[in-house]
Amino acid sequence: MAKAYRWRKKHAAALDFAIASGRALRGIASAEELALVAAHRRCAQCGMLMPSGRRADALYCRRACKAKASRARRKAAQSEGDHDA
Ligand SMILES: [Zn+2]
Repeated sequence: MAKAYRWRKKHAAALDFAIASGRALRGIASAEELALVAAHRRCAQCGMLMPSGRRADALYCRRACKAKASRARRKAAQSEGDHDA
């Protein structure tokens, strides 16, 4: 029992957010829950909500998204250079 309580306490913020975002998706979130969801930033690549624990200035939710974004940037830079080829 005590163990479960500690787990709940440790993960309360993440759990609250998960519940709030689920309710927001279904359109039944309260104002407090919507504010909680709005306060979370989204990944610049896939648009998923940033997992808690990411750095405040992180742009992407995971390494795969960061890699995908940098590949896309490189590809865009390359196709710009192709014009005079
Ligand atoms: Zn992402």
